[in-house]
Order: sequence, then structure tokens, then C-alpha cells
Amino acid sequence: MALIVQKYGGTSVGTTERIEHVARKIKAFRDQGDDLVVVVSAMSGETNRLLELADAVHPQARGRELDVLLSTGEQVTIALLSMALSRLGCPARSYTGSQVHILTDSEFNKARIRTIEQGRIRDDLGKGRVVVVAGFQGVDEQGNITTLGRGGSDTTAVALAAALGADECQIYTDVDGVYTTDPRVVSDARRLDRITFEEMLEMASLGSKVLQIRSVEFAGKYNVPLRVLSTFVDGPGTLITFEDEDMEDALISGIAFSRDEAQLTITGVPDHPGVAYKIIGAVSALNIEVDMIVQNVGADGLTDFTFTVHRNDYERALERLRDAASELKANEVRGDTRIAKVSLVGVGMRSHAGIASTMFEALGREGVNILMISTSEIKISVIIQEKYLELAVRALHDAFELAGPPEERVDSAGT
Ligand code: ADP
Ligand code: ASP
Ligand code: MG
Repeated sequence: MALIVQKYGGTSVGTTERIEHVARKIKAFRDQGDDLVVVVSAMSGETNRLLELADAVHPQARGRELDVLLSTGEQVTIALLSMALSRLGCPARSYTGSQVHILTDSEFNKARIRTIEQGRIRDDLGKGRVVVVAGFQGVDEQGNITTLGRGGSDTTAVALAAALGADECQIYTDVDGVYTTDPRVVSDARRLDRITFEEMLEMASLGSKVLQIRSVEFAGKYNVPLRVLSTFVDGPGTLITFEDEDMEDALISGIAFSRDEAQLTITGVPDHPGVAYKIIGAVSALNIEVDMIVQNVGADGLTDFTFTVHRNDYERALERLRDAASELKANEVRGDTRIAKVSLVGVGMRSHAGIASTMFEALGREGVNILMISTSEIKISVIIQEKYLELAVRALHDAFELAGPPEERVDSAGT
């Protein structure tokens, strides 16, 4: 008998019919004898609806009260799913994050899980119940409700699986696994049988929202077997796993992309030691994460800086940069929010040269201009104009021959 933690995302519980479908699925697992802890998201669109309500009464609403509001979405689905299960004759108990005691820090809106109490869960499992836990939420030491950031139910599931030593953590969603790129953008994207934690971490942090980054970090750190599967079609899904020999042959595992980007440029700043700190440090001091940074070769004692931030932080960063510009007597400050980032990810990059040139060639052929480039051991990212994003993703998908049925990848990996 296995202990499995399952998570069902927003689309999977988006209507009462779908909740009933999920309940039938869970019952079938129970009938096989498995113990189940089930994490659910809010119904699809609900978290956005709640954010809009908050925005209507206070456009900058953040912090404690926002979390009180946002956590209600998941409270609805845990109750409905437990009712649907009980109607099928499958005993179930629902718990909010605070009831099951998912203890977090006090960083409202993006809290981190510290510990999870097992007592109640083990007790219920011992009595043959399915335990249904609200995703995306916890409680801090003072008893305040906290939430874990968008997509946070994935992290709730992995954290529960780690705490309980579950045999597997299964993330059920509206696609049947992790693909070479978002299958909604490239229709012949290919499902991967396996992907490494390292690659999945890069994919998630570079914009593939199929798993929240923290859930992948958590699973890697605590060695939780993690699988992404479809709620609606049966299949093996994608296993997130540690690197092994068979996987090295795959040059590129996937293409991630993000529209959440904005670019800022400051020109004509003195080319002196400490200037980069004055510019980037000033923006970072606002708790704004600076991503790619380019400094031009100086001429006539002056230089230019260009860097990117999350689009949500653009206005604040621009304002701060204008202040820095007048302090440094810079020429000009410019900004652009119509940019996007496209990234190639693959552990195979470590041992293969020429990937960047194939990438640049493919983009050049399509007339896509590269604005910035950054590389690390297993990824290459470029900033391009947003209007070319889909074209670029498709061109790269073709250039690296990523399309095709999943069996092909197994063949090319020599297994
Ligand atoms: P859930 O509500 O179940 O958490 P999400 O919308 O958060 O689902 O994540 C699933 C979505 O992730 C898919 O519908 C798909 O459009 C998107 N996605 C982005 N990149 C990928 C990828 N590489 N593989 C699979 N899905 C991806
Ligand atoms: N409901 C939350 C969100 O939309 C958490 C989740 O679905 O994982 O971000
Ligand atoms: Mg999600």
C-alpha cells in the first residue's frame, strides 16, 4: 500500500462536474488500497477574481488582508471535493492550511513553508479517510493566514509529500505532462517522459508555469518523487528526476519563455568604479530583482547600462533609475515593456558546443533581433521584442528538432 500526495489544479476543479470527476478518480485510487492526501487549488479564475475585488477597493492591496481574501478560494474547493467524495461513499476530511498547521514565515503573499504537523493527517489516514488539504496557504507563528505566491498549491503538495515521506507526489493538471515547450504555443511540442530537477528548475524560473519554482526546489532538496499528469486523460505523465546516463544525449530538453519582462536603459553615465553599484544597487534596494545586465564598453569616459526587471516592478524601477540618473548626471533613461525572454534549457549543453550559434542563426533567419543575451551552464536566454515571441519559440523548436511523439526522445537517448 502506497502513500500518495495528489494535487489537482484550478482547471481540474473548475466546475462542480470536474470536482465530481476528481472525486471519482480519487475513489478509484482508494479502491486500489492507496492512502491519499489530496491538495486542491481554487476553481480556475477564482484567485484572479479575488485579486480584482481587492484591486477595486485598494489598488495597492498587499499583505495580511490580501492573504485572508485569497485563501478563501481553496477553502471552497476542499469542502466541495470532500462532499463529493463522501457522496461516493469515500470518507474524507477537509483542512485549511492553518487547521492542518502548515507553519510558514510571515512574508504575506509569498510565504515560505517551515514545518507541517503530521498528527491530524496520520490520524485520519489511519481511520481510512482521504485527507483533503487547501493548497497555497499556511499560517504564521502569530496565527495569521499566509499564502505562498501564485501557483503555490504545487509547493503545498510537495511539502506535504516530503513531510509525510510519501511514495510519490502527483501533480494533476490540464496537460498530460511537461512538454518541450508550452503545448498551447507549439502544437507539436512533445511530452517528456523525464526531465531532471535542474532542468525543471530552470524551465520554471524562466517562465514555464506548469510547476511553481519552489515546488521543484523542495522536491529536489527532499528527494520527493514528483510526477506531472493529466486529470482528464490517463498516461504516465512526466517524472521529474535526478540526472542519469540515458538523459545526457538530449541536447535541449525544453524552451521556456516569459512575457513578464521589462527593460531599462541608462546612457551616458561616468565610467568609474562604483557606478554599477549606484545604479543596480539603487534598484535592488527596493527589493526589485534585477535579471539580465549589460554594460557597454565605455567611450569618452562614459558608458551605458541596460538591465531587465519583472514587468510588475517596471514603474518603480524606472522612477528609481531617473533619480539615479540625475545624481550621476546621466544623459538619458529609457524603458521598454514590450519585450520577452526566450530560453533554451538542457543538461546536454554542458557537453555540446555550438548551441548558441544554432539558436542565433534560427532567430536571425526569422528576422528576430536579439536585444540581450545571458548564458549559464544549462541555459541560454535572449531578450527579444514581445511581438516576435511565438515566432521565436516555434523557430527554435524546429531548429532543435524538438517535435514528435514521446517515444522518439527515448530512442534518441538510446534506451
Ligand atoms: P494548474 O491550474 O493545474 O496548476 P497551470 O496553468 O498552473 O495549471 O499549469 C499548466 C499549464 O502550464 C498548461 O496548461 C500549459 O499551458 C502551461 N505550460 C507552460 N509551459 C509548459 C510546458 N513546458 N509543459 C507543459 N505545460 C506548460
Ligand atoms: N489558486 C492559486 C493561484 O492561482 C494557487 C494555485 O492554484 O496553485 O495561484
Ligand atoms: Mg499551477
